[in-house]
Amino acid sequence: MEEYEIIIIGAGPAGLSAGIYAGRQNSKTLLIDKGLTGGLGLEVPAMENYPGYEHINGMKLIEHTKNQCEQYCQINEMENIESITKEENGSFIINTDKDSYHTQNIILATGSKHRQLNVLGEDEFKGRGVSYCATCDGMFFKNRKVLVIGGGNSAAQESIFLTNLGCDVQIVHRRDELRAEKYLTDVLDKKGINVIWNSVVKEIKGSQTVESVILEKTDGSIIEVETDALFVAIGDLPQNELAISLGVKLDDSGYIITDKQQKTNVEHVYAAGDITGGIKQWVVACGEGAVASSIAFNERDL
Ligand code: NAP
Repeated sequence: MEEYEIIIIGAGPAGLSAGIYAGRQNSKTLLIDKGLTGGLGLEVPAMENYPGYEHINGMKLIEHTKNQCEQYCQINEMENIESITKEENGSFIINTDKDSYHTQNIILATGSKHRQLNVLGEDEFKGRGVSYCATCDGMFFKNRKVLVIGGGNSAAQESIFLTNLGCDVQIVHRRDELRAEKYLTDVLDKKGINVIWNSVVKEIKGSQTVESVILEKTDGSIIEVETDALFVAIGDLPQNELAISLGVKLDDSGYIITDKQQKTNVEHVYAAGDITGGIKQWVVACGEGAVASSIAFNERDL
């Protein structure tokens, strides 16, 4: 069984940053992801708050970071972890669908997944007008009517991206103000993107593809809005299954609790990035990944 000093789980911004730091301190490191490198980072249409770049999209930044990370650490994509067992000496055996590995330290950078609306029609029309990623699916709806659901940074970013593609975009939000940051709401205003306020989606309707949605307003009235697509951007949920299996403590929302050194309650298990909740920003994820690797290195058994 191959032996590693550090195994990082999740190859988004936090995991890649942890990989760069771990490899550069000469720790033998493996980075495993059940999907492709990048995680939800691949879906970020544009960023203007990552230091060093006035404007960059997520896919490009992941490409740069992956190239850098591969110089220092092995990345195994499309490899699913089936179980992790803790040995009596405190080390771990990680069993995947492809192999088994032994490691002294684990960094959980498992991130989060899209929250769903859980309304009638959502499952039926997935991939036929219901999407969770404008960068991935926006082009299919160029010059057509789309609704973006949500009021946070993601909803604002998706709306701007879709408008730039030529879509006719309206946002649907359940309250009367957005929680998105001002630099994004300023762009929404500038582009004249309409918001349907105080409304929640009750049902998604169509035949082969989405044709309309039923909205319920806070005053109880019901309206039907014609649309070709629905981009759901209502936040995310932690991917905490492996953390739970290891006995790692979570907060009430299911995010991993860490100290300032990214340590969890389980010795030699660290966590970094969106899985720790809090400020879910690219730069924060990278910072946490760097801290986790550095502390794992400082505290290794010599
Ligand atoms: P978010 O900030 O949690 O916002 C989710 C939005 O969806 C909120 O407006 C919320 O309404 C609404 N919502 C939640 N559940 C709903 C439901 N069942 N039906 C209808 N609406 C619902 O999520 P996010 O925008 O995906 O962002 C996630 C994190 O990533 C945040 O920390 C965000 O700051 C960060 N992020 C940052 C950037 C950036 O810096 N450029 C970009 C994207 C994401 P309420 O407002 O009523 O709660």
